[in-house]
Amino acid sequence: MSQAPAISPTREKDFPEWYQQVVRAADMAENSEVRGCMVIKPWGYGLWENIQKQLDVKFKETGHVNAYFPLLIPLSYLEKEAQHAEGFATECAVVTHHRLEAQKQPDGTTKMIPTGKLEEPFVIRPTSETIIGAAFARWVQSYRDLPLLINQWANVMRWEMRPRLFLRTAEFLWQEGHTAHETEEEAMEETKLMHKVYADFLRNHLAIPVIPGEKTENERFPGAVNTFTVEAMVQDRKAIQAGTSHYLGQNFAKAANIQFLGRDNTRQFAHTTSWGMSTRLIGTLIMAHGDDDGVIMPPRMAPYQIVILPVTPKPDTRQEVIDACEALAKTLRTQTFHGELLRVHVDKRDLQGGAKNWEWIKKGVPLRVEMGPRDITSRSVAVCRRDQGPKAKEIVGKEDFLRDVTEKLQEIQDALLARATEMRDANMKKMETMEEFQAFFAEGSPGGFALMHWAGSNEEEDKIAKDMKVTIRCVPISDEFAEEGKCFLTGKPSSKRVIFARSY
Ligand code: AMP
Repeated sequence: MSQAPAISPTREKDFPEWYQQVVRAADMAENSEVRGCMVIKPWGYGLWENIQKQLDVKFKETGHVNAYFPLLIPLSYLEKEAQHAEGFATECAVVTHHRLEAQKQPDGTTKMIPTGKLEEPFVIRPTSETIIGAAFARWVQSYRDLPLLINQWANVMRWEMRPRLFLRTAEFLWQEGHTAHETEEEAMEETKLMHKVYADFLRNHLAIPVIPGEKTENERFPGAVNTFTVEAMVQDRKAIQAGTSHYLGQNFAKAANIQFLGRDNTRQFAHTTSWGMSTRLIGTLIMAHGDDDGVIMPPRMAPYQIVILPVTPKPDTRQEVIDACEALAKTLRTQTFHGELLRVHVDKRDLQGGAKNWEWIKKGVPLRVEMGPRDITSRSVAVCRRDQGPKAKEIVGKEDFLRDVTEKLQEIQDALLARATEMRDANMKKMETMEEFQAFFAEGSPGGFALMHWAGSNEEEDKIAKDMKVTIRCVPISDEFAEEGKCFLTGKPSSKRVIFARSY
């Protein structure tokens, strides 16, 4: 008899609801009492810690250093860059008071009344270009002070009207890189470098193939000259913007007065960049790899890569089994996978074996290893790969397992990337006409990434977004997409295809 899937509904039946149920079943996060804000639980936060640790290495390798700036931004700072201010205006949480006064009520309760109105309100940072710009203006005097290559790990707040766990929350965790350069050329090089770091990170660490490209003017970061994005396709064939890198020109340098004395002894404005990835990566990972039994963690990212489940049928052999499991874990923890010590957990809880096993399946642990009294005698272990379904189990010699374990983890990592790539490629389609385009995104058809020739205006792009709920996700940078053709809407000549898709 085949086992019913652990998650209900299935992906096929109702993908958004499947996602909510997976997050809950894996115990990664929950909605909080504060609208749009989530509680990230240890299994979700463990994943975030690995994202942070591994991305931070990449940032340091490319010459960046970490710093920290205030949570509160004076309102006047936001007003200095008009487009930026306008772009974020509807999403800002504003601090207007700095004190509370207790007022006793006739019914004996106490009400806390905000008092001490601030002369100038503060905005809780939706992003930090303006306040970091003010610091950069103090730090930069001469061309010798450039480039400034700074990153901040922080929380930000954007008053999102339609929040969804991890993918779009009002408060989220992220990193924001902010850099200042002497020339446009150097700043553009930095923007593209970090765009590439993001694409490589998603591919090699999260096992998610992304399409790197440029946003159209309509979709640009408010105040940016160019925005580069990495777009992932998840299993319901929608796109997720997984990270962005912006070339800001001199817009923010002028707003914050980041000026320096150049090599030619003239005063010049710096050229700046910013780039960010957030806890949205966690939702992207779940939607890209999960199945009807829950999360599937790529081994490089998994909080535990291996969970050892002691099989203890009789009380008199229980301790012996647990000792053997602990010893196996200890040996495993001396090995490294991509430069990090293996993360191994022994689940010693006094719970029924089946329940424990399913818990780790739902959490997506790459390898589950069972060991009982008989395995100790035969010097073997039972190994289950999460990417091969709940029934797959292989009995292997303990020594062989220890010898091959990192190879096995890499196999899983590669299999997940191959699967996600196959899914994406199968749902990416070149089309030429409006009829094909409409049929591709029609109610009830699966959709995907539509590769279209495009030479329309901003207004025409907006109209398609409004009428059909699909947007241009990016103009891919790869030459693969370059070819001569005609815009499917206007018939004007086009030299490249863009990607249209529904998105989260
Ligand atoms: P931005 O500064 O707007 O370019 O944002 C940088 C990245 O943060 C985006 O590319 C998204 O992947 C992510 N992001 C933006 N808004 C949210 C949100 N409300 N919740 C989670 N992640 C977000």
